[in-house]
Amino acid sequence: MLLRIDNLCVNYGAIRALHGVSLQIERGEIVALIGSNGAGKSTLLRTLSGLIRPAEGQILFDPQNGARIAELHKLPTHQIVRLGVVQIPEGRQVFANMTVRENLLLGGYLRGGEARTAIQEIFDHFPVLSQRRDQKAGTLSGGEQQMLAIGRALMAKPTLLLMDEPSLGLAPLFVRKIFDLIKQINAQGTTVFLVEQNAHMALTVAHRAYVLQTGRVILTDRADKLLENPDVQRAYLGG
Ligand code: ATP
Repeated sequence: MLLRIDNLCVNYGAIRALHGVSLQIERGEIVALIGSNGAGKSTLLRTLSGLIRPAEGQILFDPQNGARIAELHKLPTHQIVRLGVVQIPEGRQVFANMTVRENLLLGGYLRGGEARTAIQEIFDHFPVLSQRRDQKAGTLSGGEQQMLAIGRALMAKPTLLLMDEPSLGLAPLFVRKIFDLIKQINAQGTTVFLVEQNAHMALTVAHRAYVLQTGRVILTDRADKLLENPDVQRAYLGG
């Protein structure tokens, strides 16, 4: 296993948002987490990134380099990032007044002098970012900003990339591009945990998926099986 979540419970004050969630991600997989608004998807990602502490349960991560298994639920965010678990937040959140290049260099700050080589790889991957390298990020279209947010996360060379709603607010053409990109990133060796309301696209690219409903995992299977599941079709695929 690369990541294992056991019996995770998260509260916001008196409100319990996650009720004993367990899931596992293997190295090399794309795993999707689908669910409606308010199901707890963002809460789960924020807990994985160390932004929220769980009330119960544990999150174990194997850095795969011979180092000890890490207990992410006890670590601060910067140490989680150092271990190779990097989140792209919902809504992109690029630095609007900084250039594309500066945004990317920030993503690579942990890599020191290597960042300048890494940035060339990102430009090769995303020609549109290369063309706009000296442009302020705030002047990019929504889809380009999403690419920049992905590029910035890749600058950190993540082992596990956490993506929160990458397709949110994007035109259909860009949605397809982003999902193609997720497959490419995965093919090059990055494991991806993909949180999406766009269940159809998520299940099309993922190997396996979990369905979250009001803070509980109610179903998990191979993604192709879930696409054919009548309950999933009715609830999440408009079928
Ligand atoms: P969305 O797709 O709308 O972001 P989600 O599946 O990501 O939904 P969460 O944002 O994780 O869901 O929310 C899960 C539950 O926790 C919801 O009932 C939500 O109202 C509640 N919640 C989220 N953030 C907070 C907060 N800061 N304080 C109190 N309750 C919160």
